[in-house]
Amino acid sequence: MALTLEPGAKLVVATHNSGKARELAEILENRFQLVTAGELGLGEPEETEHTFIGNALLKARAAADASGLPALADDSGLSVTALDGAPGIYSARWAGPDKDFSVAMAKVEERLAELDGEDRSAWFTCALALAWPNGPAVVVEGRVDGTLAFPPRGTRGFGYDPIFTPEGRDLTFGEMEPAAKDAISHRARAFAKLKAALW
Ligand code: IMP
Repeated sequence: MALTLEPGAKLVVATHNSGKARELAEILENRFQLVTAGELGLGEPEETEHTFIGNALLKARAAADASGLPALADDSGLSVTALDGAPGIYSARWAGPDKDFSVAMAKVEERLAELDGEDRSAWFTCALALAWPNGPAVVVEGRVDGTLAFPPRGTRGFGYDPIFTPEGRDLTFGEMEPAAKDAISHRARAFAKLKAALW
């Protein structure tokens, strides 16, 4: 079986977030007919794996097997070197039930303040998994390295963007034009690899 998807093929996006689905459609250049797991009434599996790739694959596999269609899932987050990679796969969970990322960013700052070292290096990871129903899967990962700066700066982007300055730049992701972030982001790098693998 060739691991390719014909243009126009129906593809399940394993998310219940319609904003994310729209963003993915754009990145995929509207090449496929996208339908979300939410629209199909599929459940959201618990993210029980311990890596970005593991969780992306778990979500893609669950959606593909339940729908009988190829399914794409992502998993992403911020890893801080001095915190042994935390929050990592728990990035969304650090924001609490209200999904308040000012809380999550303050938590990162507090944890760093409890340590002696000066290391403020961090990286974002994006794992993407495309699984065929009861079949194989393609998994890729993109990464962008940078440093953390407090207090948070900028009102663009989302999540931890206001504390992350990518390598070689002065602006945080929260201050950068969306197109400038998209040119170097972990998500863009992961999608470039997926596209290279699939078409
Ligand atoms: P997911 O939706 O379960 O993959 O959770 C990803 C979490 O990681 C998000 O809620 C954000 O907190 C964080 N994250 C991932 N990518 C980015 C990014 O590009 N900027 C800022 N935060 C991000």
